[in-house]
Amino acid sequence: MLKKDIKCIVKTYYDALEEGKIFGRKCTACGHVEYPPYLACNLCGHLETEWVEISGKAMCNQILPPPLAFFEPTLKERVGDYWHGAVEPENSDESSAVLVNIIPSKLEEAIAKLPLEVRPVIVQHDDVKTVYWEFVDPSLRCTADTESETAADTADTAAAAAADGADFKDDPVAMAVIACAADAYGVDAATLTLNTNIREELANQSMKMIVMISEIEDELNVEISLRDAGTLLTIGDFVAAVKAKLE
Ligand SMILES: [Zn+2]
Repeated sequence: MLKKDIKCIVKTYYDALEEGKIFGRKCTACGHVEYPPYLACNLCGHLETEWVEISGKAMCNQILPPPLAFFEPTLKERVGDYWHGAVEPENSDESSAVLVNIIPSKLEEAIAKLPLEVRPVIVQHDDVKTVYWEFVDPSLRCTADTESETAADTADTAAAAAADGADFKDDPVAMAVIACAADAYGVDAATLTLNTNIREELANQSMKMIVMISEIEDELNVEISLRDAGTLLTIGDFVAAVKAKLE
């Protein structure tokens, strides 16, 4: 493969994305599609391939939980919450991909339903477009509607918090966890309750969660692994996890 061929492939691919088309390379011998595009056929080894617009049909075979330790904040800023996944376009091979428009609390449900149908989403980043994937199943997909529902829920939760704030005020573990969360996320402790969903209401920022966890560990002398923390959603979940460790 010559360098000029690679450059041509990259340019053709990105030019097509500008038009909303996603191209792969189809093997002229066996029909196998290489996506992301590659000059030779990885299935039969044939060297001649031609451009083909991929159908957009694809299966997600694997989902990797939110990458707490290797979190990419700039990607999150651009696309919102995301998971990594193994995506296999029709007639092509599986490759690693980014899943967008996900609902973080539905991770276990999504994993249980694998393999799941996904479709491409072309996102503009500065001056280039990038291909991500989203679930076809609307119950697993975050839309403008579910976002506004979340905003309404947040308002409800804040109102509820004001109403039933008393039941955990005498619980030293709960108050310590809330103080750590307020400190790590830079919010007023009075706005937090056991029902506060850290991922949805406090912005799911892993660095802040790591700070919160380390404060809880120092404050209450317990150990919480990032793996355990990955399954905890609300302040109450953290309080329960800490209490389980203290017993
Ligand atoms: Zn082939």
